[in-house]
Amino acid sequence: MQLLDGKKTAAEIKIEVAEEIQRVKSKGGKTPHLAAVLVGNSGASVTYVNAKITACETVGMHSSIVRMNDTVTEKELLEEVDRLNKDNDVDGFIVQLPLPKHISDKKVTEAISPDKDVDGFHPWNIGKMMLNLPTFLPATPYGILQLIERYNIETTGKHCVVVGRSSIVGSPIANLMSRNSYPGNCTVTLTHSRTVNLKEITLSADILIVALGKPEFITADMVSEGVVVFDVGITRKADKTKKSGYKLFGDVEFKGVSEKASFITPVPGGVGPMTIVSLLKNTLLAAKGK
Ligand code: NDP
Repeated sequence: MQLLDGKKTAAEIKIEVAEEIQRVKSKGGKTPHLAAVLVGNSGASVTYVNAKITACETVGMHSSIVRMNDTVTEKELLEEVDRLNKDNDVDGFIVQLPLPKHISDKKVTEAISPDKDVDGFHPWNIGKMMLNLPTFLPATPYGILQLIERYNIETTGKHCVVVGRSSIVGSPIANLMSRNSYPGNCTVTLTHSRTVNLKEITLSADILIVALGKPEFITADMVSEGVVVFDVGITRKADKTKKSGYKLFGDVEFKGVSEKASFITPVPGGVGPMTIVSLLKNTLLAAKGK
């Protein structure tokens, strides 16, 4: 079994992004600027936004956080999105999800200018992705593709099983893995909570991408020898022995599954860091597109 080390790969990509930013600046170009809108103070969202901002600093990118109380109205949030759309210094921005229940994720996502949508969630960018046109790819699927490339994992003709059909992970990665390209050219099965014979399907996977948010859901008896596993899931569970007060769990029971897998991502340190680095790459792309 070989570990797909997202932390190490992300660090290598960050060096490349930092070099590219220096090249752009040395030619008189501007420093890319990523802004993040953080609504409320949920532990996970604060951690994710902080990690994104720290990553910007590491590569020499400008970053800013717009903090809003969770009592903010949808109208106020949409006004902030409009302001960021018009701010010429901001190349790309994200609105950290999930949002409070009284605000529509869909409305907010659609209000972001597609040229600044570095999360790749806007319907225009999703549409372009479906048509295999150049665009911002959703950060987590993009991170998985980069891991596949960096570890030279063969994808052509393979059976790729995706568990979970969210619009930010499962659905886009299923599309990307079926594209006529590398990574891609897989035969893809997209599964979800209504799938009846899940184990039968996961057992036939050459590549298994799991994004459902149920800790250790995929167990060793559900996979075949040699499978390549991408575990997207992140669930926090309280753990007093940890400094942070919690422990992170993936959707895959790592110990058992890793004994059968040829490649597998750990949690943490697998897909998570690759998601962040993909956001940096998209922001660089947004800045260069001007
Ligand atoms: P969602 O929570 O939006 O959706 C979960 C999906 O899993 C749904 O499609 C659901 O099916 C499916 N599902 C639920 N139960 C089952 C089951 N028993 N069998 C098969 N499918 C099932 O997913 P997200 O993609 O937003 O998040 C998934 C996980 O990934 C979470 O832990 C999240 O924290 C993590 N995540 C990690 C990221 C990273 O950077 N590493 C980035 C984004 C998410 P249905 O559609 O039928 O309800």
